[in-house]
Amino acid sequence: MEPIQGIKQAIRTIPDFPKEGIQFKDITPLLQDAHFFDQSIELLASKLKGKSVDYIAGIESRGFIFGAALALKLGCGFVPIRKPGKLPYKTYSQSYDLEYGTDTIEIHQDAFKPGSTVCLIDDLLATGGTAAAAVKLIERCDVELDSILFLIELTFLEGRAKLAGQTVESLIAF
Ligand code: AMP
Repeated sequence: MEPIQGIKQAIRTIPDFPKEGIQFKDITPLLQDAHFFDQSIELLASKLKGKSVDYIAGIESRGFIFGAALALKLGCGFVPIRKPGKLPYKTYSQSYDLEYGTDTIEIHQDAFKPGSTVCLIDDLLATGGTAAAAVKLIERCDVELDSILFLIELTFLEGRAKLAGQTVESLIAF
């Protein structure tokens, strides 16, 4: 079996979580398996092959799991993009629309050395609202955004449309 097929089969779909109509992609079975977890980091790293990236920025919370492991693998720094009120120093804040209401994410103003190269990562691309807000935060930081990586992409939601002009890569499409 191709590594990607094994990883895909290790992702469990939970219907109607956290609310009715959502098919939640549960990555915990993948994380439980050291081989699949390792392979998913290998495959994410292969998307950055030949590139020189200084930081992986991960979106809370599942973006931390893959982002931190990827940063260690590549020997670069890790920067957390967090829910409001979690980061202790001066932050930039960005709100974005949800189906009902809005949400906000934050980054430390001194998260990156100016002029460095950044790769953004999250576990899953759905509508693209979260990642688009993260792009806006990174754009305020005087760095170059190389690319955006996702383990999973829900292609039917066309989240890439919100990330136009960016290099977007995902490992697994549903
Ligand atoms: P979006 O902003 O719509 O692209 O949503 C992306 C964020 O919400 C990511 O941080 C995901 O972890 C989470 N998310 C959205 N939809 C799902 C889903 N069906 N299964 C698991 N996580 C999801």
